[in-house]
Amino acid sequence: MNLQKPDQLTLPPAPPAAVNLYTPKNPFTATVVGRRRINDPSSPNFCWHVVLDIRGGQMEGRYRIGQSIGVVPEGRFNDPKFNVMNRSLDSKIRLYSIASACWGDDWRGETVSLCVKREVDENEETGELVFGAASNFICDAQLGDRMQITGPVGKSFLLPENPLPHHYVFVATGTGIAPFRGMLIELFNQGFAGEAWLIFGVPYSTEVMYDEEFRQWSQNHPNFHYRTAISREQRNREGGKLYVQHRLEEEEERLIPLLRRPETRLYLCGLKGMEFGIYKWLYRIDSGLLSLPPGMTVEAIQAMTRESPDWMKVEKARDKERLFKETY
Ligand SMILES: Cc1cc2nc3c(=O)[nH]c(=O)nc-3n(C[C@H](O)[C@H](O)[C@H](O)COP(=O)(O)OP(=O)(O)OC[C@H]3O[C@@H](n4cnc5c(N)ncnc54)[C@H](O)[C@@H]3O)c2cc1C
Repeated sequence: MNLQKPDQLTLPPAPPAAVNLYTPKNPFTATVVGRRRINDPSSPNFCWHVVLDIRGGQMEGRYRIGQSIGVVPEGRFNDPKFNVMNRSLDSKIRLYSIASACWGDDWRGETVSLCVKREVDENEETGELVFGAASNFICDAQLGDRMQITGPVGKSFLLPENPLPHHYVFVATGTGIAPFRGMLIELFNQGFAGEAWLIFGVPYSTEVMYDEEFRQWSQNHPNFHYRTAISREQRNREGGKLYVQHRLEEEEERLIPLLRRPETRLYLCGLKGMEFGIYKWLYRIDSGLLSLPPGMTVEAIQAMTRESPDWMKVEKARDKERLFKETY
């Protein structure tokens, strides 16, 4: 897909963040108008980019990148194929981060795109395959199918009102890449001239989503630096698995001065717990993005385990104006 707007088009600025325009009791019916696999076809995991037509609804032109929308996987909760044990997977919506810029993939704000990984598990007792209700509902949907959506939700993982006089370090794991795709499209189509980094972690190289788009983007924009961290194929300096924090470490010479600048923002999105290694690195390099909770030392934090009750205090010590986190 071309991430650069057509030459003749003038894009409006991002709208103010609207929330809950649609709720589970009052959802909007969107139509699937695009779908494509976004990881390597040889991968046993299946990730899809799905484009929804939202024309005629209140969400048209009014969502912000960094927000999520809810999807109601209609009909799936009572289907034993999708909810074998009928456990607590009730009729709740599931949230999905928006992957398109506020102008949509159509540049007119008439669509919203998602980046969804099919969830598949094994029933421990029977060995039967269990398909996640909403993710498979979305990935199965064909062009022309209709889908009930809610939202948008979220106001705390947005780009600033004036995004241009900043620098950005985006760190994603798995489908946490979704908002960064849209953020990069917004920034570079508004004439962004600062520094932007994208560090993207996945277990296998076949799982890298939107890889071609990001490579092309980094070729066209010398101020965009794209790095992947393939945990089960690459090694860190100590010989262990290579995670996103190791890639950050490798780029320290350029990232430390950048992160210490007050106008630089760091965004983390993806797997719950991904911040654990990253926060330790941020303390070590004295980034200023995290303060020291009372009574704690950097050494004590470095020695902390993820289960430590004190870790909760570290979690809360981030500078909320400069360090943003969306994990699930
Ligand atoms: C803010 C936010 C943003 C998010 N953004 C994204 C995104 O951009 N992309 C994305 O892909 N996800 C995203 N998610 C996660 C998403 O909301 C769902 O949690 C995810 O897709 C799984 O939902 P599901 O309905 O498919 O699975 P569920 O039906 O909820 O099942 C969850 C897991 O349990 C397994 N399971 C179900 N029944 C059984 C059983 N009987 N025995 C054993 N295992 C079983 C399923 O296989 C699945 O792996 C986001 C979450 C949040 C909170």
